This record gives sequence, structure tokens and C-alpha cells, in this order.
Amino acid sequence: MNVYSGATGARLPRWLLPDNWPLKDNQPQQATLHFHAEGLQFEPDSGSSYVNYLALNGALVLPALIEPHAHLDKTFTVQRSPAQQAGLLAAIAAMHQDRENWNADDLRQRATRALHWAVEGGVGVLRTHIDWFSADAPLAWQVIGELSHPLCDIERVALAPLNFFANATDAQHIAAQVALSGQGALLGGFIHSSNWDAQAFENLLQAASQYQLDIDLHIDEELNSSAQGMRWLARYLQESPFKGQITCSHSCALSLQDDAQQILDVLAQQRVTLIALPLTNLLLQDAVQGRTPRLRGLTLIKEAQARGIPLLLGADNVQDAFCPLGSYDPLDTLFSGLLSLQLGAAFDEASALICQRSALHAGAVQFSNDLVVFPDADITSWPLRQRQRYRLKNGVCYALKAGEQTDGA
Ligand SMILES: [Zn+2]
Repeated sequence: MNVYSGATGARLPRWLLPDNWPLKDNQPQQATLHFHAEGLQFEPDSGSSYVNYLALNGALVLPALIEPHAHLDKTFTVQRSPAQQAGLLAAIAAMHQDRENWNADDLRQRATRALHWAVEGGVGVLRTHIDWFSADAPLAWQVIGELSHPLCDIERVALAPLNFFANATDAQHIAAQVALSGQGALLGGFIHSSNWDAQAFENLLQAASQYQLDIDLHIDEELNSSAQGMRWLARYLQESPFKGQITCSHSCALSLQDDAQQILDVLAQQRVTLIALPLTNLLLQDAVQGRTPRLRGLTLIKEAQARGIPLLLGADNVQDAFCPLGSYDPLDTLFSGLLSLQLGAAFDEASALICQRSALHAGAVQFSNDLVVFPDADITSWPLRQRQRYRLKNGVCYALKAGEQTDGA
């Protein structure tokens, strides 16, 4: 096994480079990367030759990708339990029907397949929500908690409907179990007009504070301008700032709300992360049988970007009643976002939305010794065509199909 000490000729995205990075033919100059035990350093290629450095020859290089929002408990169930109607609530009904099949073997086999697909896509951190069906942790919480992969950290979010937090004792009971689950376990909730309860939301936030948990919410996943979740959260945070990290997934209703700009101003102050899920939002929002959808259902990414709010794109559901399609490849998610959100340059700007580590973990080192390399990709075609890739972690190259090591370029 060769352990490289560095690499030359890396084409890094502009968003990762300092403002004074030199340009050549109006493109950022290629970079030399130095892999040190204490972290990664990079500088413009100088033409110097180094011993035991991998020659990347202009390959596109990103930090290992992030899948910030998946559902490994539900995935790969669409064949046996498709949704009977369009929209989010019909998908939830189909999921409850499928649950009778969720024994340990079934969960492990489906979740493992999902994990392998994500790793093949270049994912180094996968955050999965896991549905809770009572105030006690479900079997899937434990089964998915036992999964591991040398190339991918797995995080679990307890996804409980808001009414489970209506009673402060239940809220604390849920939070206590999440806290006992150790690192990479977060408190979540499904917050929607159909279950809106301000007291329950306050109980959720207070229980998270008490147990020092970060939060990742399914919030306002609907095109309803009177949805209260984000509005209420912004007001609450102004009075009671939250010490941990809050991530708001979906927040589709913001796209219809007159006070969205003020809500975003507060989120920016409090450094709340937003996650947009373009694949499922396009599929499930404004979904009526026999009628062409008119609305996109996506949260206000550009307005959030303008305020410096941390942002990511996630896959959400893959091959279940919520979304019959999907691949766990963040490039597919990004491509969908590039069109539906009319994002900027794919590699140089928008790629941050699938690998910006600090959006998931405030204060995280943005560029570490864990990279994904696209050896034959060209900047104008990416993320389409030439999607072959490998991981370069701590100086070792890993082919992603079977997770084995490779010699790299
Ligand atoms: Zn979700």
C-alpha cells in the first residue's frame, strides 16, 4: 500500500481558494497538496518536484462529499410499499404500512446497501434520520447505530413527530436516549401544519439544550404560507439563543411567506444551517394527481446564500414511498439543484453545497486529508459525464466501487 505524502496538479474549486489565488487563462492555477499528520496544506503548483507525490494532472478535487439528509430506515422499500397517492402525507401512510417488515435483518440489509452506494459516490459523512414511533428508540436506531464503514462516518437523527414532545417528560426521555447514543446522534422532529404545537417545539428545544444535543428538523415541508415552524423558531431564537447547532431541513414554506426575509435574517445571526432537498421537494411539493406542478417547493437558497447562512443539498428519500428514484450520489442531487435552483457554476461555486463541512459541523476544518478525485472530468461537463472518482484519504487512494485501494491516477 502506497501512502502518498502529497499531490500535485489538483484543480480545486474557487470557493475553497483564497481571493488572491493566482489565475491562469482565467482559471485557478492547479494546486500542490501536502498531507501532514496535523492536516492538509495547499499552495499553487510551483513546478517543484516532490518525492512520493501523486500527480493529479489537473483532475478535479473536492473535500470528501457529504450526504446530510437520508432515511436509511425507509430506503429500498418502494417495490413492496409504493405510495397510493401523490404528496407527502400519502407517502407517510405507505411507510407506516411497510413498517411491519422492519426486522433487524431487513433494516441492516437495506441500510448497508444504502451506505455502500453513498461511499461509491464519494460520501465521507452520511447523516440519516430515523423515524421514532413512540418515545422509546425504535429497532432501526440500534441497527443503524451498529453500522460502520472505514470511509464514511454515520450520524443518526431521531425523527419524532412534534406531538411526541407535547409532554416535557417525554421530550426529555427522547433526548436522554439520543444523548446516551454517543457522538453523531442528534435530536430531530417532524414539524408541519398538520401537527403544529408551539409548546411541544419549545419542549424539544429545551430538552436538546438540557442534554447538549444538536438538532436537525424536518420543518415546514409544505407549500403553506401559514406554516408556523420557521417563523416561531426565528422568534424563539431571538429571545433564547441555542448553544448547539440547529439545522433546518426542507423549510419549503419560506418560498411563499411574506416575512421570509426577516426569518432568514434571524437564521443568519444564529448560524442556523439550511438543507434543501431538491429531488423530493420537486417530487412531493405541489403534487396533485393529473395536474402539472406549478411551484418548485424549494427553500430560499439564494436569499440564504446572500446572508451567509450555511447551506447544503441532500438526497432525502431513496427508492421508497416518498421518492421511488435516487442513487445516494451527491452529484445527482447537485445536478437537480443546479437546474431547479438555478445555481451558479457547478464546480467552482455550487459544489460547496455537497461538501462544505462547516455547514454540517460549525467550526469543522474545511479541507482535510480526505478528498474525492475526479480524474478525467472536465470543468464544463462536471457533474455530468466522466463521473468516475476515487477517494484520497490520509494519502491512500481508494477505488470506490468495492472500497479497495488503488494506485490512484
Ligand atoms: Zn427527510
